[in-house]
Amino acid sequence: MVNKTISLKRLIGWVGWAVLTIALTGCQGPTQTSGNPAIRKSSTPPSYMLSVNDLGSRLGLSVATAGNPYYELKNASNRVLLFMYENGKVYVNGDSVASVGPVVDVNGTYYVSEILLSQIRPYLQSGQSTWTPTPQPSPTPWTPRTGAGRVVIDPGHGGKDPGAISYLGHYEKDIVLQISRRLASILQRRGVEVIMTRRDDTFIELEERAAIANRAEADLFVSIHADSHNDRVHQGFTVYVARSASDTSRQVGRSLENTLSRIGIPSKGLRSADYRVLVQTRCPAVLVETGFLSNPNEAAMLLDGGYQERIASAIAEGIINAL
Ligand SMILES: [Zn+2]
Repeated sequence: MVNKTISLKRLIGWVGWAVLTIALTGCQGPTQTSGNPAIRKSSTPPSYMLSVNDLGSRLGLSVATAGNPYYELKNASNRVLLFMYENGKVYVNGDSVASVGPVVDVNGTYYVSEILLSQIRPYLQSGQSTWTPTPQPSPTPWTPRTGAGRVVIDPGHGGKDPGAISYLGHYEKDIVLQISRRLASILQRRGVEVIMTRRDDTFIELEERAAIANRAEADLFVSIHADSHNDRVHQGFTVYVARSASDTSRQVGRSLENTLSRIGIPSKGLRSADYRVLVQTRCPAVLVETGFLSNPNEAAMLLDGGYQERIASAIAEGIINAL
C-alpha cells in the first residue's frame, strides 16, 4: 500500500481523461467542465481545516490511492471511500453526508473541514472490515424445494454490445458479468442450480437469453444490468418485472427490492417494463438495475469488489427468500 496525498493535478487529469473517454464513445452523458467547483485553491491552509492525510491519521487510517477520483482511507480493519464533488456534496461509502463545507487545495494537498471526522467515525469498526458482506441472518442452509431450484442468471450485454459506459470509463457488460459471477457462486453454495446465459465477454441476442431459460425449464430468470442517465445525479437500484408479470415474478421482485434496500443504496422501487427478456421467458423473470454508472459515486462503488459482493449477496438472499 502506498500512502500519499492525491494531487489536484492528478485528479483533474483523471477527470479530463474520463470526459475524453465519454466523448469518444459517444455516450450521451452530461457535459462536464474540468476541475471541481467545490475545490478552491489557496496558498495557506485554513486554520480550521485538516489535510486528508491528517484526517486519516486522526481516524487511524492512511490514504491509499489507486488512480481513482475518490479517496480510499484504509487500515487493517476498515476501508472508507470518500468521494467529494461539486456543490460540496461529500459521500462516505456511498452515503451522502451533510454539507461539510468547501474542499481547499493548498499546493496539491487537499484540506477538509474537521466536521468530516465525526461523519466518518460511524463507519469505522475494529476487527471487522466495513466492507464485509452482511452475515446471512439464517444459520440453517437453504434447501431448494423440488422444482424451485434452477435459476438462470443473465449478465446484460456482452461482446460487441458494451451497454452503458460508466462515469469512470468502464463498460456495463464487464461490471454486470462480475456481479453475476459472484451471484452465481453464492447461489451455488446455497444449493441452487445456476445456469448463466454468458460466462465471458460474448454477445448473445436477447431472444437467445430467454430461450436458454425456456429450454432449461428454469424456475427463475434474473437479468443483471446497471443503469445510466444523462443527468448524473440519478442514483439507486431498480427492480423490473414485465407489465403482465405473474404473481411469482412480482413476489421475487418485491423480495429483491427488500433485500437490496438493506445494503444502503437508494431504491427506485419495483417497476414494470416490457423488456424482451422479461416478456419472452416462460418462467418468472426479473431484471435488476444495480445502480447508476453515470453517477460518479455509484460508478466507483460498482467497480469495487466488496461492494459487488454485497449487491450479489442481497440479490441471492432476495431470490432465496422468494423461492
Ligand atoms: Zn443494461
